[in-house]
Amino acid sequence: MKMIKTIPEIQAEIRKQREQGQARTIGFVPTMGALHQGHLSLVQACREENDVTVVSIFVNPAQFGPNEDFEKYPRDFQTDESMLKELGVDLIFYPAKDEIYPPGYSTYVEVEKLGQVLCGKSRPTHFKGVATVVLKLFNIIKPDRAYFGRKDAQQAVIIKRMAAELNLDVTIKALPIVRDPDGLALSSRNVYLSPAERGAALHLPRALMRAQERIQAGLKDAAEIKAGIETELRKSPLLTVDYVEVATLDGLEPFPGSPGGQLIASNNTLVAAAVKVGKTRLIDNFILGEI
Ligand code: AMP
Repeated sequence: MKMIKTIPEIQAEIRKQREQGQARTIGFVPTMGALHQGHLSLVQACREENDVTVVSIFVNPAQFGPNEDFEKYPRDFQTDESMLKELGVDLIFYPAKDEIYPPGYSTYVEVEKLGQVLCGKSRPTHFKGVATVVLKLFNIIKPDRAYFGRKDAQQAVIIKRMAAELNLDVTIKALPIVRDPDGLALSSRNVYLSPAERGAALHLPRALMRAQERIQAGLKDAAEIKAGIETELRKSPLLTVDYVEVATLDGLEPFPGSPGGQLIASNNTLVAAAVKVGKTRLIDNFILGEI
């Protein structure tokens, strides 16, 4: 496994591997590090489906808002590196901030509308930062396939839309959410939670699981699904609701919220929620259909 920090070096290495015929297909997993089994599930799938696996570790300042946790976001490169080595990753791309955004940097990509709903309401510049860094990484690495988690379903939908609309020659894969045995979706931010907060956080997967069961039992009314989740989440005093939304999966358009309102589509629905537990923002979702 090689660890590379600069753009010219990773480009040269990938060019070399392609020319030597070692890399008929290149798979790519972009991450911000502090790796857990959720990330590693993407890496494993990538290894299985491609000749060469590239993982990037870059805490992307452009996707953090001014009062968010960029500075204190967990970073542990040594542990990440040894996990990736064990999985047989070929290349780690670990650039410094200035390598990606040199002083005076000015070009950004924005996927309109999709980036302004759900998480985009409370994080208005987040998806612009995500789309920009992912496009830059795609241009640097030129992968055939790129792997994302459904944990960040809105992100996967946005990246897929960007790839289609900008005619990028890359297949976007969105893989299932990996959870702790108690149901909490794995997240690098879970380390921020105190034991009491972690207990409260479990209301999030439970509320979504309950909604899923009700849908399986025949519930289709979007407003009722949403209300059920909100009621469950409000049971914990440690938890504040950022949003609960029931939206189309492809266009992220919320189903009208009035009681007796629209019925969900059985193959095109995203049910997503974000909460704050103390200072930690957590998201979770389930989908009906494919991203
Ligand atoms: P991050 O390091 O948070 O930017 O995440 C990198 C990738 O890992 C993203 O595509 C995430 O959606 C994915 N990911 C994060 N947590 C999970 C999880 N619990 N299950 C599956 N994928 C995940």
